[in-house]
Amino acid sequence: MSCIFCKIAAGEIPSATLYEDEDVRVILDLGPASRGHALVLPKRHFADVTAMPQRLLGKAMKVAGRIGAAQKKAFGYEGFNLIQNNGEAAGQTVFHFHLHVIPRRSGDAAVGLWRPGTVTPEEMAETAGLIRQEL
Ligand code: 5GP
Ligand code: ZN
Repeated sequence: MSCIFCKIAAGEIPSATLYEDEDVRVILDLGPASRGHALVLPKRHFADVTAMPQRLLGKAMKVAGRIGAAQKKAFGYEGFNLIQNNGEAAGQTVFHFHLHVIPRRSGDAAVGLWRPGTVTPEEMAETAGLIRQEL
């Protein structure tokens, strides 16, 4: 396997580790959006959220919440974003599932996600129907 996050999660490549257990390793991101920006990595390889087992998803979210709370205490942050990219078009660059934990302060520009658009009630009903039928 040539997956960089598999190697980091396994401890074969050293990383600034915040937390580790039998399922996950949490590391600092190399290109942080803000000080303390962390990544929750499962130790087993899954390309993205669609491949992740439910138990590990629950675990990753629970651990991310603890990390966010610790970032707030450590540096006086006021909040944090949990961000998880799936697919190149969505900004995924490493194809081993990871959950970003990005600490935030009011007014910072650390993360810019989307500009709200507009939609009619009719469009919303049609859109919801088209997605529902693929579930
Ligand atoms: P993505 O864009 O796939 O959601 O996020 C990949 C993240 O992994 C980026 O924020 C990038 O800075 C980080 N990253 C990529 N390679 C490494 C690495 O070797 N070590 C660490 N600690 N972070 C990495
Ligand atoms: Zn991997």
